[in-house]
Amino acid sequence: MKEDKKSEGQRKQEALSYKKKNYYEETSATEREAIFAYAEGYKAFLDAAKTEREACDYAVKAAQDKGFTEYKFGEKLRAGDKKYYVNRGKSVVVFRVGKRNLEEDGFRIIASHIDAPRIDIKQNPVYEEAGMCFLKTHYYGGIKKYQWTAMPLALHGVVVLQDGTKKEIRVGEDETDPVFYINDLLPHLGAEQMNKTAAKVIGGEQLNVLVGSVPYADKDVSDKIKLNVLSVLHDKYGMCEEDFLSAELSVVPAFRARDIGFDRGLVGAYGHDDRVCAYPALTALLDFESEHTVLAMLVDKEEIGSIGTTGMQCKVFEDVMEEISVALGANFRKVRAHSKCLSSDVTAAYDPNFPEVYEKMNAAILSHGTCMNKFTGSRGKSGSSDASAEFVGEIRKAFNDAGVIWQTAELGKVDAGGGGTVAMFVANLNIDTVDLGVPVISMHAPYELISKADLYSTYKAFQAFLC
Ligand code: MN
Ligand code: MN
Repeated sequence: MKEDKKSEGQRKQEALSYKKKNYYEETSATEREAIFAYAEGYKAFLDAAKTEREACDYAVKAAQDKGFTEYKFGEKLRAGDKKYYVNRGKSVVVFRVGKRNLEEDGFRIIASHIDAPRIDIKQNPVYEEAGMCFLKTHYYGGIKKYQWTAMPLALHGVVVLQDGTKKEIRVGEDETDPVFYINDLLPHLGAEQMNKTAAKVIGGEQLNVLVGSVPYADKDVSDKIKLNVLSVLHDKYGMCEEDFLSAELSVVPAFRARDIGFDRGLVGAYGHDDRVCAYPALTALLDFESEHTVLAMLVDKEEIGSIGTTGMQCKVFEDVMEEISVALGANFRKVRAHSKCLSSDVTAAYDPNFPEVYEKMNAAILSHGTCMNKFTGSRGKSGSSDASAEFVGEIRKAFNDAGVIWQTAELGKVDAGGGGTVAMFVANLNIDTVDLGVPVISMHAPYELISKADLYSTYKAFQAFLC
């Protein structure tokens, strides 16, 4: 690499052209170790937190371990305070109060979601037929239904009993636990099924989860297998069939997070979308002190429209910000006007097996760093919050100054489809917002892939943004 051997054109090309960089190629041996070490913590988080409730509990515990305490509306605040606000056990805002003037400086916000596509149990779900007992389901979020059959599944959630007691259920994660299953058709009899479109290969009402097969030992009762399952549930959780009415139970893949590839550069797991952004949001906030007042919002219901009491569109997140502003004697309108937000959600990584849906120049390339989507939406940017050049310029400078390897992308080719995030809901509050997150292969599949380099790059990007 001797400078004098370069031609004038070569030097000009280097100075003027833009090229994405592979983070692994840019990094030092020490940082490469940090990349791999950070992924170990992330994998443990994935295995511990497969639902929004579990992710929320994890975040609260991690915050408490770092000296954060629960915040209640009306509480006084001062610079240096480390707090978290839990919303119904399904979403949480973790924040630090900085010493800068809030009206002039605003908040630095990272917003990620902790729900993931899955299969929910219906309210009246139990039946038996042909030697098997099943639970009927209604899937949650955008899944390819055929991907969820013929593999080990775990059951997670809560049941509220008649007397108000809440029982937590988590079966299928321990090596000694049983797992659950959704049947598929054998290929020998699948001729007609294989002629259907992929959307119809498995129908919504065929996603019945197999949960039992042993009859209750009493010849005088009917539906013996169902009774046996109910009996097991009663012994273990004190519940009866009616308690399913007031339950939130979900079926998720029973797989654990694993390294992918001989060189271990990738992580395969259920629910990278969007825990792969929520984890760096949480850890960056917990790990780094800042002069700004910084918030990590880990929210629910993004996969079904961000609505309801725990989704990003709920007023509670605005309330938290307003309460903090009031507690610090700041005008909330001024605070919002000066706040900045990274809406941190995953994007689609370019997949060479499906090149037809990507435009490679503007696609996220695996291991080329955390990825900014200036806008999302579909067909003419519809339904998107399009970040301004000024705000993107500010973030770009912060990342480059901090040596963050990052890239930009759109979600697929123009007219190929698209998607949305929580960005618009924050931006609607008059807060500059842009999407930034980890590129994912096989997004929304039961087992998704991400690069450890992109995960770590996101963590570093958050540090640059928050501090
Ligand atoms: Mn997402
Ligand atoms: Mn998603």
